[in-house]
Amino acid sequence: MTTAIVTGGGSGIGLAITEKFVQHNIRTIIIGRDLSKLQAAQEKLGALCIPVAADLSDLGAIPALVNKITAQYGPVQVLVNNAGINLKKLFTDVTDDDFQRILTTNVTAVFALSREMVKHMRTLGGGAIINISSMAAQYGIPKVIAYTASKSAIEGMTKAMAVELSPEGIRVNCIAPGFIATDMSAKALNDDPERKQKVMSRTPMGVLGTPADIGDAALFLAGNGAKYITGVVLPVDGGNSVGF
Ligand code: NDP
Repeated sequence: MTTAIVTGGGSGIGLAITEKFVQHNIRTIIIGRDLSKLQAAQEKLGALCIPVAADLSDLGAIPALVNKITAQYGPVQVLVNNAGINLKKLFTDVTDDDFQRILTTNVTAVFALSREMVKHMRTLGGGAIINISSMAAQYGIPKVIAYTASKSAIEGMTKAMAVELSPEGIRVNCIAPGFIATDMSAKALNDDPERKQKVMSRTPMGVLGTPADIGDAALFLAGNGAKYITGVVLPVDGGNSVGF
């Protein structure tokens, strides 16, 4: 049986990825800080969805977390680094602490968890890592400086990891979601009709994406159908990254 870890699997895009994995019989360990959210996901998706509460910004605790998970659940072939946080502030209002906080969760924790998981995947003879970026890495979006820096870093790290880890059978890819209608993003757009109009006008398909669209892409990249694909950044964005 394939086993995966999905960080931030208790909500939004991570929950949709977990749902797809579980539907395809992939046992999925979901990590987040809020245990009640993770347990609600398990109630919804069943026993193949396994909650593990942890704060990934506690970098020093990551090696023990990976050891605990692999000791308890055995081989884990897939890691989806989906957990991420955002901060909307004008550039000059962002403090050093703000910047560091976003970078710690969105980049350093992804690096540290991936490093420990690669040591584990090596013992299995291969694996797949999928990082969740954003179109914020493709073009400038105002008031999200730290988030943008973090997502650009993820895309660079994906490529470097892909090249270094290819000989070991570990594939590393990235999904760059466009405007995805999670509760949070749909509300933000509905609260700002002008922005909604702008977003829709530069999305050739003319609709917002769904979390399930990202789930489908993650399922593909995790599976054997993507066995010759590594180091790519796959936009799942209704054409947003190529059109106006
Ligand atoms: P959510 O806020 O719904 O999900 C983020 C998840 O990350 C939560 O489940 C949260 O769980 C978890 N998380 C945050 N910090 C930590 C931490 N320190 N340790 C462990 N878990 C943590 O957002 P989305 O589903 O919208 O976003 C998911 C990913 O997709 C992010 O990387 C985001 O940048 C990216 N993305 C989203 C887009 C969108 O339109 N929604 C567009 C482009 C990219 P908890 O609070 O329990 O810790």
